[in-house]
Amino acid sequence: MAKEKKTLAKALKEKTDKPVKEKSSKEKKNKSSKKEKEALLADYPNLWETRSQDDIDHTMAFAEEYMAFLDIAKTEREFVNNAIDALNDKGFVDIDTVETLKPGDKVFSSIKGKGLMFAVVGKEEIVKGMNILGAHIDSPRLDLKPNPIYEEDELVFFKTHYYGGIKKYQWTTIPLAIHGVIMKKDGTKLSLCIGEKDEDPIFYISDLLPHLGSEQMSHKASDFIKGEDLNVLIGGSKLPDDDSRDACKYAILKLLNKEYGIDEKDFVSAEIEIVPAMKARDVGFDRALIAAYGHDDKVCAYPALMALMAQEAPARTCVCMLSDKEEIGSYGNSGAQSRLYENFLVELFAKINGGYDELGYRKCIANTKMLSTDVSNAYDPKYASVSDKRNTAYLSKGVKMEKYTGARGKSGASDANSEFFASILRIFAENDIPWQTGELGKVDAGGGGTISAYLAKLGMEVIDCGVPVLSMHAPYEVISKIDLYFTYLAYKCFIENMK
Ligand code: MN
Ligand code: MN
Repeated sequence: MAKEKKTLAKALKEKTDKPVKEKSSKEKKNKSSKKEKEALLADYPNLWETRSQDDIDHTMAFAEEYMAFLDIAKTEREFVNNAIDALNDKGFVDIDTVETLKPGDKVFSSIKGKGLMFAVVGKEEIVKGMNILGAHIDSPRLDLKPNPIYEEDELVFFKTHYYGGIKKYQWTTIPLAIHGVIMKKDGTKLSLCIGEKDEDPIFYISDLLPHLGSEQMSHKASDFIKGEDLNVLIGGSKLPDDDSRDACKYAILKLLNKEYGIDEKDFVSAEIEIVPAMKARDVGFDRALIAAYGHDDKVCAYPALMALMAQEAPARTCVCMLSDKEEIGSYGNSGAQSRLYENFLVELFAKINGGYDELGYRKCIANTKMLSTDVSNAYDPKYASVSDKRNTAYLSKGVKMEKYTGARGKSGASDANSEFFASILRIFAENDIPWQTGELGKVDAGGGGTISAYLAKLGMEVIDCGVPVLSMHAPYEVISKIDLYFTYLAYKCFIENMK
């Protein structure tokens, strides 16, 4: 054994003592042409492969915090409430409570409890513009109809009307939770969240057993579960000795009245949302991905919130806009088309400027730069045919820069100006921020829109920029943790460096 060891040590020594062989001119040439090739050809590397262990450690830690936030912020109202708590802790105050603003001041304003604007005042003159991050915090779901409760054959259901673009069949036979608000007759607001705690009951939409499903399965997938079939099972018991009509419905209403002091008519004005009861979970042996409800668009809203909260004394005034109703067209006074969002910008301008000045405000907006931070589809090799492989976003290649959205001939697109887009890419290059690009699907395969067009209309520069999502708009969507972390860095880089 000893002899063998000695031989091995000797061999190793010889190996290290070997003179370094001079590289041949051919090898040198190959190396320089490889470098030249790298400089000329666009490359979008997988970030798990190219980033440091330190980056990966930060990625995993950031993902943990995001997942914990998602579990308590499934609806727009819950996102706003939790974001305001976080902002208060960081010293943000309601903009209504201050008369004037100076660099370093932090303010927010709730938009009907369903949207949120917040800002950190910068050192630069406000007329030179602001840097804005804008995401939406509503997600596809099922809303209750005005008269939701009914009994059929001794089972009690909620009737629903789906909200946003969903594949209806995906919402059957999964655990569902009830979130929302009911305004009681005494003027108080009842907030409901049932189905999230382990000890809570969940709610459920039944489907047909395969043994009897052959007729159902012969229909197109868009038809076999109809909108009117999305009825949520909420009970099926009776009170003792009650053989009257609707006895099961009465039993549920009696229970709700005892627990919450409400009756059937209180549902008419309520806003109750049915969402998946699943929590955010790691996906895969390597835990590289996250499955959760509502990544669209909380996976952009959360890093935008974190990027803004990391600011103390930015050069330009930084703003974050979290809007409601994006999934149904950004209408209503809590949607991105509402003037309430602009009202905040006006008030911010006036309180920094020492008074309102119409022309000054308009110049400020014309000089404002915005990232419309919304998700896009991630390329799925199982469904490769819907995407142009050369122009699509991939999981784990970083934030997706989307110059334009729209559908069929770019209809409805907000198309970012080349000058603006290139200026962001320069900043990303200077700060080592990886990015990728692409469209949502092949030409004529479909498409989509974001809030970008409504803000671009005011005159600011806007581009879409967000995290790629697998199974977008499904009850349980998937993203890559490394995309989430580098999207946070990209948003932070933008608001700190964009001029
Ligand atoms: Mn979205
Ligand atoms: Mn969406």
